[in-house]
This record gives sequence, structure tokens and C-alpha cells, in this order.
Amino acid sequence: MADLPQLPYDWQEPLYKHLHQHPELSMEEHETRAEIARRLSEFGYEVQEIGGGVVGVLTNGDGATVLTRADFDALPVAETTGLPYSSTVDGVMHACGHDMHVTCALGAAQAMAETKDSWQGTYLALFQPGEEIAAGARSMVDDGLVNKVPRPDVCLSQHVLGGLSGTVSTSPGAVLSAGDSIKVTIHGKGSHGSMPHLGVDPVVIAASIVVRLQSIVSRVIAPGDFGVVTVGSIQAGSKSNIIPDSATLLLNVRTYDDAVRTKVLEAIERIVRGECEAGGTPQEPDFEYYDRFPLTLNDEATTARVTEAFRAHFGEDKVTHMAPVPASEDFSIIPDAFGVPYSYWGLGGFEEGATPVGNHNPKFAPAIHPTIETGTAALASAVLAWLGTTPESENR
Ligand code: ZN
Ligand code: ZN
Repeated sequence: MADLPQLPYDWQEPLYKHLHQHPELSMEEHETRAEIARRLSEFGYEVQEIGGGVVGVLTNGDGATVLTRADFDALPVAETTGLPYSSTVDGVMHACGHDMHVTCALGAAQAMAETKDSWQGTYLALFQPGEEIAAGARSMVDDGLVNKVPRPDVCLSQHVLGGLSGTVSTSPGAVLSAGDSIKVTIHGKGSHGSMPHLGVDPVVIAASIVVRLQSIVSRVIAPGDFGVVTVGSIQAGSKSNIIPDSATLLLNVRTYDDAVRTKVLEAIERIVRGECEAGGTPQEPDFEYYDRFPLTLNDEATTARVTEAFRAHFGEDKVTHMAPVPASEDFSIIPDAFGVPYSYWGLGGFEEGATPVGNHNPKFAPAIHPTIETGTAALASAVLAWLGTTPESENR
């Protein structure tokens, strides 16, 4: 396999800090997108803007085609890290490390451009917007991604997580959960609080629903199956002596298996309808599904190849097992659109002894080094596991 250039590139840390200081919300990432496109062009890539994202294509003779994907949106979170390079935008922060993803992916793009003598094939450096709201991958696919770039044989992506900086973690199978948000509206009948018999109280019905929903994970799905059903918001009424007309629940569901997912969603609808029926509502409840994230299900052979490349590059002790994370991603929409296998791995982001702060927390602050070097080398070495032409043995 080709030797990678010396990392990090001297522009990487300043770029990371710049991106961190200038976060942009999902599907509004104009400056970030322009910056990515400009740098890819400088590295010699053929650049296209697709559905709010950017794809750089580097063709280098016959061979396989590999796509890497990095996301670049930030979150509506007010930063409290106190870092000298804190966000300069009120209430917006790169609290999920997507600034790190861009920094590493652009580094890998330069590394691939610089080592063209030692690999063959086509490399696609894809950068997507709007991951946090499950909109960006879909938007790129809807804008014709599949017909605008060469079809990859495999898609790869990574996420900075709570592990030790300098390590990567991989696993075949489900690594991230499917995520579904549901807005449930219960239609009751308003009345004076002293005359409940003249109304249909949606607050009482909502309360029964919240309690009964807890039985899905304990009674409906198998004991070994994973599922989370959370009612994150419940809203009805405004005054103690008025029975309101309606109640609204916001639900969030996480699962690691499509059959379990279907079972849980069916049970939710059944319970809500049943409780509404029991309460005598004048109208059927409404269900509005949103922020729907697919399951991230790593292909076994692809993941084995990535893991082997990491072990060869970083050493056995730097490659750990990735336990499934009950968070969700829209990455798999991209490989699914092409109908190709994929692997998604974790990039350790925290120093030894540091208490890792979870993604989306206002204090989320990954260690810059060696996270940048590791994330850059991880992408490049994984890509070269398909495109590298020199057998490992000839390098020794
Ligand atoms: Zn996130
Ligand atoms: Zn993220």
C-alpha cells in the first residue's frame, strides 16, 4: 500500500479552528460548502455542487471506485467550552464534530491527490449538508447524485466519538440505530374544567398513552431486541380550569433492526388509536413522521477490509471494537441509493484521562491532535485498501 504523506498538513489545524468559529446550521451551510469546493479544486479535483453538498472526483486510471463521505452542518447549540476558537455565531455550534470530519476528509483528499503514483482507480470525496436533520443525504440523492458521479463500489464514512484520540473503532452489522420522530395529535373536545362530562379530555388520554407506550419495549419486542421509545414533549392546554381541545406528543424511536422498527411503530399507532377509542375522541388521532434516519448497518466484508487496513496502518492496539451507538445518521441513504455496501467507523476524539463530553453537548470539544492526523489517515488508508496497487509486501 502507498505510504501516506506526513500528517497533519499545516493548513488543517487553522481550517478546523476556522470552521469551528464559523458554524452554519443544517441546509444553510453556504460558506462551508464554498470553502470545501475551493479546496477540492485546488487539489485538482473535478468539483460539482449537488443538492447542497459537494463532490470532488479524482480519476486515476482503471480500477475500483471508492466514495468517502463527510458531513458539514452545525447545531442550534450555544457553545460553553470557553475555547479561544469558540463559535462566533450566537446559538450555533459545531457540537457534533462535523468540523473535524471536514478537516480530515479534505486532508485525505489532498493525500489521495499527492499519492496518485501509488494507486489506481477513482476516488470520490463527498461532503454532505444537513445531517443533523436527516435532510442532506436525501437532498443530494434527490438532486441526481447517482447520475452525476461515477458509481462507487463501496462507500465509507467516520464520526468523531467519545473514544481515545489516536484510535479508531469498527464493527460489522448495526452500528447506529434507525431513528424516527413522530408528532401525535390527540383530538379531544374542549370544555370548562368544572364540567368534564361535556368534553373529551385529551390530557387524560395523553397520560394513558404515555404510560402504555412504555410497555412496547418491555412487552411487545423480544427481550434480546433493542428499542427505545421516548416521549420527549407533551403539550396541551394553558389554564387550570379549561379542558383543551387537543394534546400533542412528540415521540422518538430508536431501533437496530428494520423488523423491530416496524413492530415498534405499529405498536405505537395501535396504542394511540386504542386509547383514543377508549376515551371516545370525536376524531381519529394524527401521526406525522419526521427526522427519519435509516439504520446504519455495516457490511461484513467491507468492514473486515477497512479493519485490516487500520490494523496495518495504526497498529492492532489502536483499533477497537465499535459498540452500537443508539444515535442515528443519514449516511446510509447514499450507499443505498447506489445499491452498494458501506462501512462506518468511530474516530476517537478525547485525550487519556479526559472525561468525554457527549456529542451535541455545549461543551463538546474533541482534542485537535492526534484526532486530525488519525481521521485523515483513517480515510486515506481505508480508500487505499481498494485503490492501492502496490502489494504491502513490496514496500517492505
Ligand atoms: Zn449530531
Ligand atoms: Zn454528527
